[in-house]
Amino acid sequence: MTEKVMNCEETKRHVHEYLQKELSEAELESITTHIANCDHCEWEYDFEAALNRTIQMSCTETPAEEIAEKILERIRSIDLNDIQH
Ligand SMILES: [Zn+2]
Repeated sequence: MTEKVMNCEETKRHVHEYLQKELSEAELESITTHIANCDHCEWEYDFEAALNRTIQMSCTETPAEEIAEKILERIRSIDLNDIQH
């Protein structure tokens, strides 16, 4: 009753804020727990995290197409390993 349980929908919606640490401690914990137990959301999280890193790493000098290319590479590499079981 007291604990807020995150479902996939909510987790996905909060992944970005989660990465930016814009959530309350309780929310961070709910999402961490959910991601640990849900392959799909884990993938979602990995993808957002990779996206963030890529953007942060390259926001100064890398042209946009190159960033897009890296992101696509990352998507392709996650794809086969993590989505299929
Ligand atoms: Zn989920």
